[in-house]
Amino acid sequence: MTNAKPNRAEVVVDLDAIAANTAVLRERVGRPLMAVVKADGYGHGLLPAARAVLAGGADALGVAVVEEALALRAAGVTAPVLAWLNGPGADFAAALEADVEVSVNAGWGLDEVVAAARATGRTAGLHLAVDTGLSREGATPDEWPALVQAAARAQADGDVVVTGLWSHMAYADAPTHPTIAAQVRVFEEAVAVARAAGLTDARRHLANSAATIALPGTWFDMVRPGVALYGLDPMGGDPAVHGLRPAMTVRAQVAHTKRVPAGAGVSYGHTYATERETTLALVPVGYADGIPRAVGNRAPVLAAGAQRTVAGRVCMDQFVLDLGDDAVAPGDEVVLWGPGDDGEPTAQQWADAAGTIHYELVTRIGGRFTRRYVGSAGAV
Ligand SMILES: *Cc1c(COP(=O)(O)O)cnc(C)c1O
Repeated sequence: MTNAKPNRAEVVVDLDAIAANTAVLRERVGRPLMAVVKADGYGHGLLPAARAVLAGGADALGVAVVEEALALRAAGVTAPVLAWLNGPGADFAAALEADVEVSVNAGWGLDEVVAAARATGRTAGLHLAVDTGLSREGATPDEWPALVQAAARAQADGDVVVTGLWSHMAYADAPTHPTIAAQVRVFEEAVAVARAAGLTDARRHLANSAATIALPGTWFDMVRPGVALYGLDPMGGDPAVHGLRPAMTVRAQVAHTKRVPAGAGVSYGHTYATERETTLALVPVGYADGIPRAVGNRAPVLAAGAQRTVAGRVCMDQFVLDLGDDAVAPGDEVVLWGPGDDGEPTAQQWADAAGTIHYELVTRIGGRFTRRYVGSAGAV
């Protein structure tokens, strides 16, 4: 795809990187892979991300909520899709009509799925979530036997087919943490309870990205990675070590430059002051576009061939860089983060600067950025 007019601010997404990352993980695990494309494909675009992971060999797609699954179906994606975060009133009928699998945590959720199955005349593909120690989604081990028995009855009635038993890890990004073995043990016990209740055909899935990369003992019948598909290392290290390449580059065009004397206070509150006469460059993206305000005086940006630190506070629409005596002009490109192999910072560097994780950065970037796709994987 060519870019006729230079873009004020754009997120460039490398579809081939997403496909290649998917293929690397699929190959490593040698079993089905459910690619997680929730939250607008982690900020990379729901549909392009979905098509790219499928081109890379993903067997199924995972999203948080039914609306995301329906958006995939509306765009013609026919791969198996699971939506797992369903509160009361979730549109299970629409999900079943669209052949979307759903998950429940409790008997009331199962009742809603059964009601939707009867209303639509469809059999629900159902996953059951067990809480093995994250204390987030899933039935507790105490609640689990009643849930699986109710699900087995609904399966015998023809309203549901239980196709998945799953849980989620608390500490997979710390591969030696003692909670990992404990969660696997609780999961195996829960699976045994479900099988004893007659749910013998369900696929077991537990592994997020970190577990897919580092913990083969969590792979079971299917893995469920998200962030690694986009080329980010969930352990915070160098993704290249795992054969992964970051898919997102965030770039903007300098909107204005000026020469200022020593001692000029820069941006709100003057938290930065120039040390000597220097050139300032204005970058036209701010916290309304998903640039964390916390990176003022902290995050690196590639400009005029070197990494500079954001000078002063990030504003709603813009921030400032101090270029010293280096040549910079309106229209020049700056790069906030990218794969890191052309001198630009990485999302991990930005996460460290902001005191957060790269997941939050890539899913929040938006606002007035445009998105541009490069690469051909899954393009339509
Ligand atoms: C987001 C999510 C994933 C993927 O997690 P990553 O750390 O991005 O791999 C997997 N399973 C569930 C339930 C999730 O919410």
